[in-house]
Order: sequence, then structure tokens, then C-alpha cells
Amino acid sequence: GATIGIIGGGQLGRMSAMAAARLGYHVHILSAEAEPPAQDTAGQVTVGAYDDETVLRRFAESVAAITFEFENVSAQGLELLASLCPVHPAGRVLAISQDRILEKSFLGDHDIPVANWVSVPEREALPEAASELGFPFILKTTRFGYDGKGQFRIADQEALDAVAPELPYPLIAEGFVDFERELSVMVARNEAGDVRCFSTTENQHRDGILDYSLAPARIPVALSEEAQRLATHIATTIGLIGIMGVEMFVSAQGTLLVNEIAPRPHNSGHWTMDACLIDQFEMHIRAVAGLPLPDPFRHSDAAMKNLIGFEGMALCDSILEQPGLALHLYGKHETREGRKMGHVNALFPLGALPGPYGIAARFDETLQAGLEITQEP
Ligand code: ATP
Ligand code: MG
Ligand code: MG
Repeated sequence: GATIGIIGGGQLGRMSAMAAARLGYHVHILSAEAEPPAQDTAGQVTVGAYDDETVLRRFAESVAAITFEFENVSAQGLELLASLCPVHPAGRVLAISQDRILEKSFLGDHDIPVANWVSVPEREALPEAASELGFPFILKTTRFGYDGKGQFRIADQEALDAVAPELPYPLIAEGFVDFERELSVMVARNEAGDVRCFSTTENQHRDGILDYSLAPARIPVALSEEAQRLATHIATTIGLIGIMGVEMFVSAQGTLLVNEIAPRPHNSGHWTMDACLIDQFEMHIRAVAGLPLPDPFRHSDAAMKNLIGFEGMALCDSILEQPGLALHLYGKHETREGRKMGHVNALFPLGALPGPYGIAARFDETLQAGLEITQEP
């Protein structure tokens, strides 16, 4: 079979490589770090810098197509790769998702609702941002943020004055969304323009990091369909080839606001590994390889909990003992506080998890595994 190149050797690369191997592809991973999680699942791993021209050139020459699990490859690097081999999703898509200003502008230009925002290139722009958005608001670094890193919640003028001199400009200021819940849609699109959405997913974050996801989201069908319509519209207008996570807020008024897009497999899509015949990683590889995209066929409802740091690893023994739970570990050599070490999927019969505002009886059993799912009124 052909060789698929994946840039980035983290857990997303690890799981993408497994899906590619299942479809008969060889996988070559380019990782900036030594001994990456993906080394256990990829046939070939090159350890080298993502901005090293020689490394990129050799990598591109060894594969039939290139994709990513890591979004922050430089524009020049992407251009070089694209001159040597098909790159999916395209550099243009990554460039938009890499920069929150470009991302919010793109979404706004295509009639996708987003929270109010103001560009804050330097400290002098803060007063206008504050008067435009009102308190509280959120400042985020325009690039390189993940798991809530590089974010600053600003409660009032006093708090703003205190942090202003030390902030890492350039920033984006976003109005604080008093959301009712958070959703995401995993959307895949191939070169032929076929689009598939996985079930709209409900996400709960803790300390800025995804804690657990529920699929399907406990929302009315019409809202779920609207979320998928938005995701499809973004995938089509951006010209996506591959898979993309679209994160959204349900506002207090019940409307949707898109928070950010991630043109790669996404943590909130990990439930698909056990609850769908074709999971997000296979859908991604299929799209990148130009294969058909069938319906993912969700055969179960699902809850996914991230295993983060020591606290997460401490749950493993209990998870291994319990029926109905599938453990996924990422093979990271060192456990660190706040580090994503693995996840666990719990499966439920179709309809056992939906709502709109109910909760499945079987959650009581899985609570022992740390699946804390808040009961709704
Ligand atoms: P990720 O790991 O998802 O890439 P990130 O660092 O890019 O995270 P965001 O997704 O923008 O950051 O924000 C992380 C979380 O912070 C969101 O999922 C949400 O819970 C909260 N948040 C972000 N922006 C806002 C906002 N404008 N109003 C309210 N809450 C917000
Ligand atoms: Mg992000
Ligand atoms: Mg996010």
C-alpha cells in the first residue's frame, strides 16, 4: 500500500496511524520530539524539526500524501511540503486555524456567528476593547494556545490594570459568553466534496481542559442539526480535506456561537473510536487518501472521559475491571500534572443517554470510574 505521512507524533498521530494501518497504509510520522506516543503505532518515525528544510523535503519525498495532527507548522514549511506532495488539509486551512484573528474574521465573513471580539495588537488597544466588550471579557494569545493556555479572564478595570503590563501581545479580546453548554461537531470532507458529520457532542471542560464528552449532546434535535449545518458550511467554504473539530457555545438565549475550529482529529471526537463503525481517525485518513466517506454509523451512545495527569492515571485499575468501559492509553513515558495521558469511553444503548434533559441510569455504575456527569433539572 501507499505511505501516508503524518506530521506530529502525539496521541492524535498515534491513533491516526492505527486507523491508517487498518486500511492497509504504511505510516511515516514526523515528530519534533524523541520517542513520541506515535512510535508504537507507526511503521516509521523521523525525529526532526518542523522548520528544517532538509527534514521536510526528505519526509515529503517518502510519502504519497501528508496530513497533520499538529497545527503549528510554519507557512514556509507548508509551502515547501505542498510543492513536493499533496498536503491535506491545505496550508491555507491551517493558517486560518493557527491565528485566532484570521479564524474569527473568516467565520464572520462567512456568516458564522461568533462571540464579540476585538483585536488587541498591543497594550494601547486595551481600553477600547474593554469599552467595546464590557467586563468580564477574555484575552487570548492569537497563536499557539491550547487547553486554555494563554488565556486571561478579566473581571474588571482593576484586574485589567494589574495584568496589562505583563500580557503576551498580540492578543484577541473576546466577550465572555455565559454559555448554557458547549458543543462540538466533527466534520469530514473529501476531495469529491462529500461531507459527513459525527453526532453533535456535548463537552465539559475543567481548568480549561476537556474533561468529558457526551454523544449525542443532550439538546433538542433542531439545535443539533443547526450545529451540523454550521460545521458543514465551514468545512465547505474553507475547502477542508480531512476532518475538523468545530467547537461551539450554546448561548444563554439558546443560539449557537462558534468558538474555534481545529482541522484535525479532535479530543471531543474520541468517543467515536468505540461508538461508531468508522471513527474520526479512519474518517480523517479516508478523506486524506481520497477514499469514500460513508455514514459513520453510530451504534451506541457514548461518554468519553479524559485521563489527565496523576489523577487520571489513578483511575486505570478501576476502569480495567469494569464492563462497558474501553480504556485508551497514549503510552506517554512520563505522567505530568495537566497532561493528557489517555481516555476512557463508556458505551450505552442508543437512546439511553439522550435527553434533552435526562440522564442514563447506568451512569451510576460508571461514576466509580470517575465519570462525573452532572444531572440536569
Ligand atoms: P483547545 O484545547 O480546545 O484548543 P484553547 O486553548 O484553544 O483550547 P478555547 O477553546 O478558546 O482555548 O477555550 C478553552 C475553553 O475556555 C472553552 O472550551 C470554554 O470553556 C472557555 N472559553 C473560551 N472562550 C470563551 C468565551 N469567550 N467565553 C466563555 N468561555 C470561554
Ligand atoms: Mg484551540
Ligand atoms: Mg478549544
